[in-house]
Amino acid sequence: MIQSPLLPHFSGCIQGRWAGTLSKGKLTVSNPATGEVLAKVSDMSGSQTAEAVEAAARAVKIGSSAAQRQAWLNGIADGLLANREELAKIITLEQGKPLRESQVEVDYAAGFFRYFATCLDHLAARNLDSRIRGAQWSVHHRPAGVAGLITPWNFPLALMAKKLSAALAADCAVVAKPAGQTPLSAIALWTVAERTGIPSGRMNLVLGRAAPIGRALCLHPAVQVISFTGSTEIGQWLLKMTAAHVKRLALELGGNAPFIVFEDANLDVAVESLIANKFRCAGQTCVCANRVYAHRAIRARLVEALAGRISKLRVGNGMDPSSDIGPLINRAGFKKVSQHVADALRRGATRVIGHSPALPHHDWGCFYPPTLLTGVRQEMLVFQEETFGPVVAVADFVSEQDAVSLANGTPYGLAAYVFTRDAERARRCAEQLHFGHLAINTGTGPIPEAPFGGMKRSGFGREGGEEGLVEFCEVQTIAAG
Ligand code: ADP
Repeated sequence: MIQSPLLPHFSGCIQGRWAGTLSKGKLTVSNPATGEVLAKVSDMSGSQTAEAVEAAARAVKIGSSAAQRQAWLNGIADGLLANREELAKIITLEQGKPLRESQVEVDYAAGFFRYFATCLDHLAARNLDSRIRGAQWSVHHRPAGVAGLITPWNFPLALMAKKLSAALAADCAVVAKPAGQTPLSAIALWTVAERTGIPSGRMNLVLGRAAPIGRALCLHPAVQVISFTGSTEIGQWLLKMTAAHVKRLALELGGNAPFIVFEDANLDVAVESLIANKFRCAGQTCVCANRVYAHRAIRARLVEALAGRISKLRVGNGMDPSSDIGPLINRAGFKKVSQHVADALRRGATRVIGHSPALPHHDWGCFYPPTLLTGVRQEMLVFQEETFGPVVAVADFVSEQDAVSLANGTPYGLAAYVFTRDAERARRCAEQLHFGHLAINTGTGPIPEAPFGGMKRSGFGREGGEEGLVEFCEVQTIAAG
């Protein structure tokens, strides 16, 4: 069992009351590296979720000043940074990623609270310049009200931080549900936030099985907005479930990111960017390059350089400082990656690096060996779906038009990467690629200051930037005659 000063309770929190004793069942949280049970956390019901919503609705009515909110946001950022090592340990134990990645995640999470503390001015009312149709017009941002926040397990601290920071900045109150695999980082975040003196009821945490909690958030009339990061299937379910109330949604759903390397690219930069982008969190991020398209003229050189780098990566327990890649989140993740690789090999792809996880004498647990495939084609599973594992899959292309249409040949539109020295080509690609996040000559993912989100089946709504704040506001226009 895990012991930490940031985990005084293994339960949710309603109106400042840690709600563990109220729930009958318990859910097990285990370390994906070892299988060890870390904690048994409360399994809260739909009616407890409704209670949390009502606590949040009361908190919203009280409201707060911008200065107060700024103090809370900066207080949480300070608290996260002061507890960086403890938080990083909790992330690694429940999620599996290497400890240094977890430390970066803590900094990243703190960055969102810090950023939103600086942009409350954006909520100030704006007057239109002149009287139009005999009235003076002004535009106001009102808090949306109670916000439901639902997050996945790959960035258990940072994704909750993104949503919570923007919601608090907008003067909303929240009912948050972290992923069942990784609730401990959220409990730790609540413990840190509690110390800043945020009024009880403004931040409520519910833990437990997803369906009853999700249903309660969708059906309770006081929930005005739901911000969700997760699979497209659950995003579609939320759309249906909230239709009756016409609730506002922000959905950051699955991706299937293309990574295009043109013949004029700086290959060293492309390789280093791909390694950093692809193997972060063992390949389990929604912005991980999933489809590498290499121009035929440089494909062999690119593959050789990648093979050299990938063969040096060490897989192991994230608590071991020599590990570059931790375990996948669970055996289901492992099976999915194995199935994608097996499908590619069966259909004619070549494995350049990577052992067969099917080796009978070795129990791989949740650890998948880093793998490099070439000769991949569009119809293979590795290109059709997000693999969510440490697998680099490479296909050839011959023309720019080819590359763009292959990249766009997916119902998803979250992140895309282009490597070229030709600025004009980069501009043309940017215009044609239907992805919400486009990185040119860099493998970088989102940052607090810039809006991030998807197109097509990757969802709508943005996190980060001023756009991320407005997701938690209602815009009201006043015409004063
Ligand atoms: P993943 O495949 O990454 O686990 P999911 O979409 O299943 O993606 O999960 C993302 C988040 O959504 C998690 O917190 C999960 O518990 C939650 N979730 C899953 N099903 C539902 C549901 N029916 N209602 C609300 N939240 C759900």
